[in-house]
Amino acid sequence: RELTKEEVRQMVKDEDIRFLRVMFTDLLGTIKSVDLPVSQLEKLLDNKIMFDGSSIDGFVRIEESDMYLYPDMSTWLVFPWGAEHGKVARVICSVHNTDGTPFSGDPRNNLKRVLKDMQKLGFKDFNIGPEPEFFLFKLDENGNPTTKVNDQENYFDMEPADRGEDCRRDIVLALEKMGFDVEAAHHEVAPGQHEVDFKYANALEAADNIQTFKLVVKTIAKNYGLHATFMPKPLSGINGSGMHLNMSLFSQDGKNAFYDENDKDQLSQTAYHFLGGLMKHARSFTAICDPIVNSYKRLVPGYEAPVYVAWSTSNRSPLVRIPNDRGMGTRLELRSADPSANPYLAIASVLEAGLDGLRNDLPPVHNIDENIYQMSLAERQEKGIVNLPDTLHNALKDLATDDVIKGSMGEHLYKSFMEAKTREYDSYRQHVSDWERHQYMEQY
Ligand code: ADP
Ligand code: MG
Ligand code: MG
Ligand code: MG
Ligand code: MG
Repeated sequence: RELTKEEVRQMVKDEDIRFLRVMFTDLLGTIKSVDLPVSQLEKLLDNKIMFDGSSIDGFVRIEESDMYLYPDMSTWLVFPWGAEHGKVARVICSVHNTDGTPFSGDPRNNLKRVLKDMQKLGFKDFNIGPEPEFFLFKLDENGNPTTKVNDQENYFDMEPADRGEDCRRDIVLALEKMGFDVEAAHHEVAPGQHEVDFKYANALEAADNIQTFKLVVKTIAKNYGLHATFMPKPLSGINGSGMHLNMSLFSQDGKNAFYDENDKDQLSQTAYHFLGGLMKHARSFTAICDPIVNSYKRLVPGYEAPVYVAWSTSNRSPLVRIPNDRGMGTRLELRSADPSANPYLAIASVLEAGLDGLRNDLPPVHNIDENIYQMSLAERQEKGIVNLPDTLHNALKDLATDDVIKGSMGEHLYKSFMEAKTREYDSYRQHVSDWERHQYMEQY
């Protein structure tokens, strides 16, 4: 709920807030923030906080650099730490041009735009339940992250062996103090790897939550002398970190539009067409949902990450899984996305894919209940199963051919994204790695 100015003033007084942390997200998904002393509250409430957009990744050129931050007062919350310098409240902002119009290069504004298109089709909410995974690494004596994980445990392991548990518990407590509805927290399959699940929310709130979540995890880990990373594949040979996106559409009357009790799988036509859209555009939204060079080291066979474009109700390995829950819990689970994705862009891209399925009555192709990993290439080809892109380079090529998914970003964001990602891949391509020296130095 949007707080009124008067309510905010009162809360600042009651809770003795000293600093206002004003946040937004850049193109690459990095949280940007300015700390304002509480004396600047009125300026913030009047949308008068200005910043230099030319210093933010993917924003604007020098000539047009003045931008304004408009606080979204439904995102107001007080951090449960840092009280020794006075309490800090944070608020997430949208970015506006000098003439007051929303800036189209702001990923959060962009998601709002796509959500309006969804509402025009008659839906109330796009719900997202994210499952972000992360690793905890030890720090060296200088406080820099090492590649040593902090435990040797496995899926659902418990203390005393699970040394990440205290840290994880503190993360959960901090999240709860900040109003998160945490559903589960557990050790993941790889050593040092964890997952914390919180309740689904409408797309905008879910994306805000993901950003806040990362900040909380990193902050608490640091207090434990650990480094938390959301890098998708920090170590080769073990599982990487994904961020499954569970999704559903709710209709105006608050019902789950993916549920239909009369269907043999209790899924509605809306669910099937949305799924059809996800299948059709999977290769092109991968660049957005798995946006870094390292993302593609996770999307390989053998580590529980998807590799092929297919869906299933009975099998946990495909790109889209339909979990058993029905009724309000009816949902599609996209398993390719990873936590390096900008959540605003990733969610907008899958929504646009699904809406395209609805607009064009796309069929839910590629329903595969067998284990695709045991099929030969010929069998896969016969069934029409394609691979996800295997590098950032190939993912960008697919994105460039898909007007629907490009449209999910809008022109400004698409152009900046392509430029930034092409640069990123070029830099990687020019780097000679240890693997190459190890492989070739003596052989040639
Ligand atoms: P998994 O079985 O894949 O490990 P989890 O239990 O870890 O799944 O996470 C399931 C996620 O799905 C949670 O975030 C939950 O809130 C979310 N969820 C439940 N119902 C819906 C729904 N209707 N729409 C979107 N997400 C949902
Ligand atoms: Mg899970
Ligand atoms: Mg579960
Ligand atoms: Mg998991
Ligand atoms: Mg999952």
